[in-house]
Amino acid sequence: MALSLPLFHFERLSAYPELLHAVATRHGGVSQAPWATLNLGGSVGDDPAAVHENHERLCRRLGVARNHLVTAFLTHSDKVAVVGRADWGQRYTDTDALVTNTPGVYLTLRFADCVPILLYDPRRRVVGIVHAGWRGTLALITQKTARLMGEVYGSAPDDLIAGIGPSLGPCCAEMGDEVVAQTRAVFGAGSNDLLRPGPRKLHLDLWSANQVQLEALGVRHIETAGICTACGVADYFSHRAERGKTGRFGAVIGLRPASGG
Ligand SMILES: [Zn+2]
Repeated sequence: MALSLPLFHFERLSAYPELLHAVATRHGGVSQAPWATLNLGGSVGDDPAAVHENHERLCRRLGVARNHLVTAFLTHSDKVAVVGRADWGQRYTDTDALVTNTPGVYLTLRFADCVPILLYDPRRRVVGIVHAGWRGTLALITQKTARLMGEVYGSAPDDLIAGIGPSLGPCCAEMGDEVVAQTRAVFGAGSNDLLRPGPRKLHLDLWSANQVQLEALGVRHIETAGICTACGVADYFSHRAERGKTGRFGAVIGLRPASGG
């Protein structure tokens, strides 16, 4: 990769100059293996000074003040927090999704196989970010987040643009029997399209599982990155491909303040 701190951007979300969004990779930081190099996870055994420096580098690259970020300590829940300027620098507990309509409040979460979902309503100017592993996906956290954007800010599903980011792909998301059973219970007949045979067990298509729950709500504009973190472990952290010993890459979304900066 040419840039020292490369970022992934969704094409659809890049169309809006008022919106800042990005998914970082594992490149551009200072952490040593197995967290090399842009690890943003503070509870995966990495040197706290390195994690701090990685956050500084990402914020500099994005042009965002670090204390203007709002984040959450992820617990694979289906809880969504509505945040504003009073939450600057906050880290919510037991929360896996954040929404706001306040410019200058940047929402960020960390990933290593779980699905990052970025949401934007350009009409009402509302942003959302979701951390959806299989638990959150089966708890329909992405649909809940989009619905909450409607309840709190009046966002219509039809106006929403969703980006489904780099995460464990259907190629690698082998699941145990219990997860397969839960998938069938949640998605009913639709689960036939989400579960596909793998070499040993069934694989769950987490990208489609998040897409269909958005579509069920009426969201039509959905872009899937199609990047599997386990296949793409050279560029992304992958809990599964690295057997749990790895870092976390970041995703960020927020509205730029009208005055700029
Ligand atoms: Zn894969």
